[in-house]
Amino acid sequence: MKKYNFNAGPSVLSRETIDNTVDAIKNFAGTELSLMEVSHRSKEFQAVADETVALFKEILDIPDGYSVLFLGGGASLQFCMVPYNLLEKKAAYLNTGTWASKAQKEAKLFGEVIEVASSKADNFTYIPKNYTIPADADYFHITTNNTIFGTEIHHDIDSSVTLVADMSSDIFSRPIDVSKYGLIYGGAQKNLAPAGVTFVIVRDDILGKVSRPIPTMLDYCTHIKDGSMFNTPPVVSVYAALQTLKWLKSIGGLSEIYRRNRKKAALLYAEIDRNKLFKGTVTVEEDRSLMNICFVMNDEYKNLEADFLQYAVSKGMVGLKGHRSVGGFRASTYNALPPEAVLALINCMQAFENSIN
Ligand SMILES: *Cc1c(COP(=O)(O)O)cnc(C)c1O
Repeated sequence: MKKYNFNAGPSVLSRETIDNTVDAIKNFAGTELSLMEVSHRSKEFQAVADETVALFKEILDIPDGYSVLFLGGGASLQFCMVPYNLLEKKAAYLNTGTWASKAQKEAKLFGEVIEVASSKADNFTYIPKNYTIPADADYFHITTNNTIFGTEIHHDIDSSVTLVADMSSDIFSRPIDVSKYGLIYGGAQKNLAPAGVTFVIVRDDILGKVSRPIPTMLDYCTHIKDGSMFNTPPVVSVYAALQTLKWLKSIGGLSEIYRRNRKKAALLYAEIDRNKLFKGTVTVEEDRSLMNICFVMNDEYKNLEADFLQYAVSKGMVGLKGHRSVGGFRASTYNALPPEAVLALINCMQAFENSIN
């Protein structure tokens, strides 16, 4: 049966990403060796690393003065590396969900943390606005897309201090103005590649300012100096990321993918709003994520939740069960999810609605 992959992460990748990576795992760049068994310092792999950085810069339109790094440890290690490298006295955090809370917790190990605003009391169903960023903070940290609760900051915000963003689940989903950020990071496994590689985009001049000693592997400067080759990078994931970037470029880049993402999300949100069985969980419409669409059954139909899920599974839907902290359903509609998947889900919702009463 045809499967529609709504997994939240690791998640759907483009066909090109998977096929090209499989080919390289069998025979990498004509070497008659697998991508998995060649040196990361070989000229063939160095070319892959260089091209991946170049395409990152081209597609995101990254200005001069920034480095692009490919590291291990996931976005979760960045929760610690960011304050290690940037927090001298005080940092500001916007608390918009589970990942934002985890980032904030790590920063507290390094200095004073000001939570400028939080939507926790309302189970993270909206993005707080009208907060004040302390002018003496070393940086301000945001999580642009709240993967678990389905809210998203859709615009590049203005910050008087260095802006740091976890973009794990919405990188490459829309055009961004990188010049507004000091540092952007994310795990690759939502919109880019299989798990294993973490990307960091950092403006070089924000580094080297804290007084504490930084362990070599946790120091961004180490990886800038060695072009992400201080130790062995996750070569398969980097290769796959390059295939995703090539695919993205071939379809027209960020403006085109943004158009497609908005269209997919608009269709699904319209059905959630229309269908008498369902309601969206994000209370403020402008904060609804384009990447993770969360919905539950209306109170009077709550007892049908398991039945709907079972029905959806029988129609090929994968990964629709909501995160345990929200319940209900979550349809992740990342870049590589084809529009047919959204239409198939909408069909399911309508057929199930028609089967009731
Ligand atoms: C998935 C996710 C993370 C965690 O990523 P790991 O690579 O597993 O550490 C962090 N932040 C956000 C926004 C995420 O979606």
